[in-house]
Amino acid sequence: TKMVHLFGGAATTAERSKELLGGKGANLAEMASIGLPVPPGFTITTEVCTAYYANGEQFPADLAADVENGIAHIEGITGKRFGDPANPLLVSVRSGARVSMPGMMDTVLNLGLNDKTVVGLVEASGDPRFAWDSYRRFIQMYADVVMGLDHAAFEEALEIAKEDKGFYLDTEMTAEDWQALVLEYLAIVERETGAPFPQEPKDQLWGAIGAVFASWESDRAKVYRRLNSIPGEWGTAVNVQAMVFGNMGDTSATGVAFTRDPATGERAWYGEWLINAQGEDVVAGIRTPQYLTRQAREKAGAKPLSMEEAMPETFAELGRVFDTLETHYRDMQDIEFTVERGKLWMLQTRSGKRTAKAALKIAVDMAAEGLISEEEAVQRVDPGALDQLLHPTLDPKAPRDVLTKGLPASPGAASGKIMFDADSAEKAAGMGEAVILVRVETSPEDIHGMHAAKGILTARGGMTSHAAVVARGMGRPCVSGAGGLAIDGAARVLRVAGRELREGEVITLDGSTGEVMAGEVPTLLPELVGDFATLMAWADRVRRMKVRTNAETPQDAQVARDFGAEGIGLCRTEHMFFDAARITAVREMILADSEEGRRAALAKLLSEQRGDFAAIFGVMAGLPVTIRLLDPPLHEFLPTREEDFAEVAAAAGVGIEALKARANELHEFNPMLGHRGCRLGVTYPEIYEMQARAIFEAACDVAAESGASPVPEVMIPLVATRREFDLMKGVVDTAAKAVFAEKGREIDYLVGTMIELPRAALMAGEIAQSAEFFSFGTNDLTQTTIGISRDDAGRFLTQYVDKGIFVTDPFVSLDVEGVGQLIELAAERGRAARVGIKLGICGEHGGDAPSIHFCEKTGLDYVSASPYRVPIARLAAAQAAL
Ligand code: PEP
Ligand code: MG
Repeated sequence: TKMVHLFGGAATTAERSKELLGGKGANLAEMASIGLPVPPGFTITTEVCTAYYANGEQFPADLAADVENGIAHIEGITGKRFGDPANPLLVSVRSGARVSMPGMMDTVLNLGLNDKTVVGLVEASGDPRFAWDSYRRFIQMYADVVMGLDHAAFEEALEIAKEDKGFYLDTEMTAEDWQALVLEYLAIVERETGAPFPQEPKDQLWGAIGAVFASWESDRAKVYRRLNSIPGEWGTAVNVQAMVFGNMGDTSATGVAFTRDPATGERAWYGEWLINAQGEDVVAGIRTPQYLTRQAREKAGAKPLSMEEAMPETFAELGRVFDTLETHYRDMQDIEFTVERGKLWMLQTRSGKRTAKAALKIAVDMAAEGLISEEEAVQRVDPGALDQLLHPTLDPKAPRDVLTKGLPASPGAASGKIMFDADSAEKAAGMGEAVILVRVETSPEDIHGMHAAKGILTARGGMTSHAAVVARGMGRPCVSGAGGLAIDGAARVLRVAGRELREGEVITLDGSTGEVMAGEVPTLLPELVGDFATLMAWADRVRRMKVRTNAETPQDAQVARDFGAEGIGLCRTEHMFFDAARITAVREMILADSEEGRRAALAKLLSEQRGDFAAIFGVMAGLPVTIRLLDPPLHEFLPTREEDFAEVAAAAGVGIEALKARANELHEFNPMLGHRGCRLGVTYPEIYEMQARAIFEAACDVAAESGASPVPEVMIPLVATRREFDLMKGVVDTAAKAVFAEKGREIDYLVGTMIELPRAALMAGEIAQSAEFFSFGTNDLTQTTIGISRDDAGRFLTQYVDKGIFVTDPFVSLDVEGVGQLIELAAERGRAARVGIKLGICGEHGGDAPSIHFCEKTGLDYVSASPYRVPIARLAAAQAAL
C-alpha cells in the first residue's frame, strides 16, 4: 500500500483512516478537503513505522522517492524550495498515532534551516531577528530530539548571553544576539557529538523521521500506552508539513483552543494564545499564555489582551472555523492554530480530551442541539471516566487554609502528602500513601508519578500544558501555574505565602477552583443529578443486560441502589465473619474438634447472620440477592502474628499450643487451590446448613414484617463437579424446607453455582441439570485458566503488559480470547441443558467496560460490579447493546 499520503490543495489524499494516517494526519487531510486553511504537507503511514521496526530499524527502500515527491508537493504549493538559500522551505516533522498521546512523542520544527538558508530566511521574511531565533530554536530542538543532547547546555548558554547583556526576557534579545548564540549552539553540538551540526536539509529530514519513529518506543510512550491500553504494534505516523510562523512579530501568534470548555463542557470557546510565539511555547508551559476571549480574560481579571481584543478579525475567522469543525465532526474539537502576519492557519484538530463532567454535558447538550442522537450521546461518554464524577468533592462549609491559587486545570479534590518528584510519588503511593505530586512544571517523563498521585500541583504552565491535559485524561485533580509557589526540589521544600512546607506534609487541591490548601479538607459525596441522570436514563433505555452489585453490607447495598443497581450479584458472606464481635465464634467453630463443637459455635453465629441477611433483604426489597456461601480457607480466620495467639486462644477458650497446632494443621501450600469454596461445605456441611438457615429465616422474617418479597439466590462457590453441587444443593434445600415448615411460609429461591474453574466451564452442561443459575467468577476463572495467581501476579504483570504478552492486566480486563472461550462454552452448554438458565458475571470484570462488551456479546443476563462502578456498568452495558 501507499507509504506516503499528500494533503493540501487538489492533491489531498482521499484516505481518512486513523489506523493508517494517525489521528493528526487523517484530520489534516480532512480539514484540507473541507477547505480550511491547512499548510500543505504529507503523512508517512503507521505501516511504515511498523515495517521500520520489523526490519531492524531500517526505512523501506522506496520510501525515499515517496518522501521526495511529498517535498515536491509542498514546494509546488508554497513556491519555496527545500534547501534553497534564496527562498527556503522549512517544515515541521510531527508524530501522530491513531489516538492522541499528548506530549509523549517527538516533534521537530523549523527543519531545513542551515548556515545558508538562514540568510535566505532573513531576506524572505525581512526579519533577521525572527530568522536567527528560528535557527537557534531548530538547533536546540533537533539536538535534543534527534541527537539526544540535553537541553541544559543550550539553556545555560542562553542564560549567560542574557546575563552578559543585562536582559531578563528572551524577547529582549536582538537579531545580532541570536546570531551570536547560534554560533555557540553549533559549537556545543560539535563539542558534544564530535561532528558538525547536519547542514544538509535532506539529512535533517531523515534524522527527524527516524527520531519520531524512535519516540514511539521511548519509555514515556510505553508507560502511556500501558496506562491507556494502547497496543505497541500500532506504531506512529509522521507528518511533514510546511512551517507557518507565529513568531513573525506582533501580527503573528499561535494558540490552542477547544470549541467548548474541556473542564465544564460549557458551550464557550476556550483556549490560550501567545503573540509572537511558536506552538511549543504554549504547550510547554514556558511562557504563561493569554486568554482567547475577552469574557474569559475579564473573568480571570487578567491584563494582557485576549485574542478577541488584540486581533478581532482573525479571531472572528477562527470562530467560523470552530463552527465549521463542530458541525463537520459533530464533536468538541481541540485545535492548534497559528497566525502568520494576520493569516490564520490550522495545524491540527482532534476530538478534544475532556473531563467526565464535560463529556456528560457536551453529550447531553449536543443531543439537545440536534447535532447528535440520544444513542450517540450515550456512546460519547467513556464509562471508565464516570469514575471521576462518582467521587467526593470538597465540603464547601469546611474551613480552608488557602495557601495560594493556581489554574483549575483538572477538576476534583484530593489531599495527600507532598512529593517533589515522580519516583518518590510512585514509591510512596506504592506503600499506600495518598500523594500530591508537586513540580515546577511536569514533563512527560513524570507520567508514572502523575498516575501514582492523587493530585498534581505545578508552579508553571497553563490550562493546556501537558500536565493539565494528561491529568484530565487520567481523572486526576490538577492545579497548574500556581505562580505563588517557590519550589526547591533539591531541598525538598516548598515556600508559599511566607510559609514553608516540607516533603510529606499534607496539602489539599481543589482542581475545580485552583485552590491549594494546607492540611486535609473534608469531602462530600457527589450528587447524581442533572446531566448525569439524563444520560443514565438514556443509557437504561437501550441497555439489555441488568446491572447488579457486589455488596455485603446494607450500607454498600444502599449506595449501589442509589447508583442504580438492580440486585446483588455477589454477597461474599466471609466478610461478615471478620466482624470483631463474631470472629471469636468463627474461631471456636474452627477450633472445635467435633461436629457438636462446631454446631455449638455456629449456633452463636446464626442470629448474627440472619440479621445481616435481613438488613440486606430490607434494602434490596423485591430485587434478587445472590448470597454466596463461605468461600475462603478457614485459616484466613486464624491469627498469623505471634503476639495475637495468646489473646485469641484466651478468647476462644483453648490453650495457646492447641491454637498453634490447629493453625499448623490448616496450613496450606496453595490455599487458593486448597480447602476452600464448596470443599468446605463438603467436609463441614453444618457451616453451609447454618448459612442457608440464616438466609431463609431472614427472608421469611422480612416477608412477614414488611410484606416485601425477598428473592434469595443461594450460590455455591468453586464447584468443579455436578456431584459437589448436588450435595450442597441438598444441604440448602433441606434447610429451606425445615425453615419454611417452622415459619409457615414459603419463599421462592434459586440455588446456583459459580463458574470459576475450567472444569466447571467444560462440564457446564451437566452441572446445569442441577444448578438453576451460573455466575461467572472471573477472578478465579482467570487465575485458574491462565495459571497465574491473582495475589502474586503484580510482580511481573507490568512487564507482561510492557512486552505485549497481554494488552492489559487480565485481572482488570477479561482475557476475551482465552478465558472468554470458556465462558462462551459454558454459557452455551448451560443453556442447552436448562432453557433460560440465568447467567451473570460477578468477578471484577463486571465493572470493566471492555469486559462488559464481551458479556453482552455472550448474551449474559446481568453483570455485577462494586457499588461505585454500577453507573459505569450501566453505561457500558448500554454502549455494548447499541
Ligand atoms: C471470582 O472468583 O471471580 C469471585 C467473584 O469470587 P472471589 O473474588 O471472592 O474469589
Ligand atoms: Mg472466586
